[in-house]
Amino acid sequence: MLLARSKLQRGRQRAKVNRRNAPSSFALRRNTPLHLFADWEAIKRRIRNAHEIALFFDFDGTLVPIAPWPDRVQLPPGKRKQLEMIARKDVLVGIVSGRQLSDLRARVGVKGIWYVGSHGYFFRRSVGPVHTVLSPSQRTEMRKISRQLSRELKAIPGVLLEFKQATIAIHYRHVSGPDYRKIVVAICRLLRDNPEMPLLPGKKVWELFPNSRVNKLTAIQHILNLEEGDQKRDTLVFYFGDDSIDERVFSQMEGISVVVGKHRRSAATFFLKSPAEVGRFLRQFCAALK
Ligand SMILES: [Mg+2]
Repeated sequence: MLLARSKLQRGRQRAKVNRRNAPSSFALRRNTPLHLFADWEAIKRRIRNAHEIALFFDFDGTLVPIAPWPDRVQLPPGKRKQLEMIARKDVLVGIVSGRQLSDLRARVGVKGIWYVGSHGYFFRRSVGPVHTVLSPSQRTEMRKISRQLSRELKAIPGVLLEFKQATIAIHYRHVSGPDYRKIVVAICRLLRDNPEMPLLPGKKVWELFPNSRVNKLTAIQHILNLEEGDQKRDTLVFYFGDDSIDERVFSQMEGISVVVGKHRRSAATFFLKSPAEVGRFLRQFCAALK
């Protein structure tokens, strides 16, 4: 959130955002990741020696390229088949996204896997009950804030406000420079009234959260606990993500972390250049399981 704050302040120097919006225990450690296939033989050995394997993927920018509008994205049939094949081989698969849970399931459409929506606030198996860590009072509060933002931003061309029950996304990919400043002003005003509310930057999007205790990693841990039950297993966990929000997972997880996108500094151990290379990973992973 410090990152979010400084980015906002660059947009409007006079804006004063309360320091309590800063993250509590999230400290980034940045590495220069290795290309995943540069060390593939060693990773293949870990896959073959693992008792249990769990693969978790972010969706936009990781399994599929970022689209100009978020409603124009669908998982390609080839990747859907690969994920179904992997899930049938007793590998735990989860898609962990900032999208709303129902929207994510509709766009991925893979059976036998876990879905995590709203950055960890909702999760379910493809067939099964929805688990949530969002309280009714948080839901009411976020709806109220969403209505307030909607009123303030409705006149700005190109802005897209998404209320995802738990979180609120403000997409500004199609907003011009002067109008972007109006968004920054509205967010700064909101944060002055709600000083505890976390705000995180994504790719051309700001996201507001009910609190800082829930994130993609807490959802992954919930799922592993639900799957393992009383029998604690030694599970080899992979996580693939592309955005600054995924850095928290990379930074705090145990297992194999992979940042997707341009080769850059990241808390992840490995990188892949694009969602197309994630497709190549799925094929090589299937082959390594044989
Ligand atoms: Mg992403």
